[in-house]
Amino acid sequence: MATLIESCFKLSTKLLRKDLEKARFKQPVQDEYLNFLHNGKPSALNYSIDYFIDGNTYLVVTFNTEPQNILIATRDLTFGTRTYLVCGCGTRVNALYLKNTFFACRNCHKLQYKSTTINNSSIHGRYLNEQAKRLRLAEMRAEIDRIFYRSKYTKRFMRFLKLCAQAGLFGPVKDATETMKAINNAQLP
Ligand SMILES: [Zn+2]
Repeated sequence: MATLIESCFKLSTKLLRKDLEKARFKQPVQDEYLNFLHNGKPSALNYSIDYFIDGNTYLVVTFNTEPQNILIATRDLTFGTRTYLVCGCGTRVNALYLKNTFFACRNCHKLQYKSTTINNSSIHGRYLNEQAKRLRLAEMRAEIDRIFYRSKYTKRFMRFLKLCAQAGLFGPVKDATETMKAINNAQLP
């Protein structure tokens, strides 16, 4: 049976936000730790940020076994810089998941969302899937720091609104429409 994504510890750039900010300025991050549940048991991992001589920056995570070096990548955007974690497969992601003893992306670990394993043809199954979808949308919204750029909604936020509409969640869409209307009215002479 496939492992469910919801049951794996998620090491995200959001969780490490403060440390990744320090990493951008090559400030020391040493011997930090995180507590979490792994296979239902309270667990902990240690991490540091290492600045290698080749110019690369690595998040060094130690969990049970040997340390794992995770490359940190950045991309400059019109506003600010976005930081990614790089999986062993080379993919830049916002989160890596812990399965067994190492961190990898969703694809490498072959993780599945719970909703895809629930039978969608029953009323109960559909209800559970809808709930899961809403939870993911709430998570997605929490990860968007910036919804406006030059008095327009950002592409990321627009994508979020589109997914909300598809999931039948019209509240956020309606709010966004009203806000934009108010902004446009305010800008009229
Ligand atoms: Zn991967």
